[in-house]
Amino acid sequence: MIENTRFAEMTASEKAMELEARYGAHNYHPLPVVLSKGKGIHLWSPEGKQYLDFLSAYSAVNQGHCHPHIIQALVRQAETLTLTSRAFYNDRLGETEAFIANYFGYDKVLMMNSGAEANETALKIARKWAYEVKGVKDGMARIVAVEGNFHGRTTGIISASTDPTARNHFGPFMPGYDIIPYNDLKALEEVLSNPDVAAFWVEPIQGEAGVVVPDEGYLAGVRALCTKYNVLMFADEVQTGIGRTGARIACDHEGVKPDLLVLGKALSGGVMPVSCVLADDGVMNVIRPGEHGSTFGGNPLACAVAVASLEVIEQEGLMENARNCGEIFRRRMKAITHPLRGLVRGKGLLNAVIIEPYREITAWEVCLKLMENGLLAKPTHQHIIRFAPPLVIKEAEMHQACDVIEATILSFS
Ligand code: PLP
Repeated sequence: MIENTRFAEMTASEKAMELEARYGAHNYHPLPVVLSKGKGIHLWSPEGKQYLDFLSAYSAVNQGHCHPHIIQALVRQAETLTLTSRAFYNDRLGETEAFIANYFGYDKVLMMNSGAEANETALKIARKWAYEVKGVKDGMARIVAVEGNFHGRTTGIISASTDPTARNHFGPFMPGYDIIPYNDLKALEEVLSNPDVAAFWVEPIQGEAGVVVPDEGYLAGVRALCTKYNVLMFADEVQTGIGRTGARIACDHEGVKPDLLVLGKALSGGVMPVSCVLADDGVMNVIRPGEHGSTFGGNPLACAVAVASLEVIEQEGLMENARNCGEIFRRRMKAITHPLRGLVRGKGLLNAVIIEPYREITAWEVCLKLMENGLLAKPTHQHIIRFAPPLVIKEAEMHQACDVIEATILSFS
């Protein structure tokens, strides 16, 4: 521990930041705010300052912090049974699989933990399907991904990344990817005509790229092309799923059912890592015992929490609320007249505001000012701020938050 007078005199927040800086790997660059309590859309620092949470842990806390229904399910299950591994059956997994599969309209689900793991799982399923069902020659299967993608941080996933920060000095990379522009059906058709393509891997809205919303009809076009060329449509809805965009999954907006659907984050209401891959039998059944798994995947605690998290989305009408409050947010942002305020884009409660070049003010500085004014949001890239509050936000709270954002932007004279 750091034993000196300077440390002893620090506030609780300063101590927490100092300890992370000293003993933690520097793999994140957080805003200088420490949080010690959360409830609904609010967060508090150890010193008692209250904030509106407009990040929701990168869309993992859609149901709001410490939602009582989810925490109750967690505690009840934690007192009963937490982990058996898949060496044995447990009495929660089957009923949870049935619940999740029926809710999203698939034959089967494979439960994992993190979003990256679920994407890795789907990559393996896609390759195996290519060899065993489509008839691709062994070792030749290709996965098509898009520029600006973000699917996680494993070596298999960053092999498809186009972000230099994600890739630099992490090679050699996994082969077998083709990268095409996002939102480009012509480029997709060209690449899909290669009979070795197993899957097209895509975020229906690119979250980490800065909430990039494709043209209307893109997802339906992707679906049609994947069907035409017998290629799996592989949708990563880790960020866009579970009500975030105002529908169960973002693909629902275009009535599209992906062949491989990957979910994570808010599948647990932000309570613990729970992710999954959904597919119908013709795809999922290529996985047989021993070929894939995870000690914690599908554990009883995760099962209890996942079911409770989906129940909250339905019972509290959070998809409708996301659509409604999202409209208010975009309308209010577009009404701000200031040279910093650029394009406003998004769907439901996954939104972003572009910060235009003005007196060298960065999105980071705007976020620092927002923080001072009691609202937490984080820049993505240098000039984009993502705004994604928990879906339990009420209309009046959304107006209150928009007042804070407006006043903050206008304060940069
Ligand atoms: N896929 C998408 C679309 C994401 O936004 C993220 C995380 O931001 C991931 C995958 C990775 O999820 P995790 O951080 O749980 O591994």
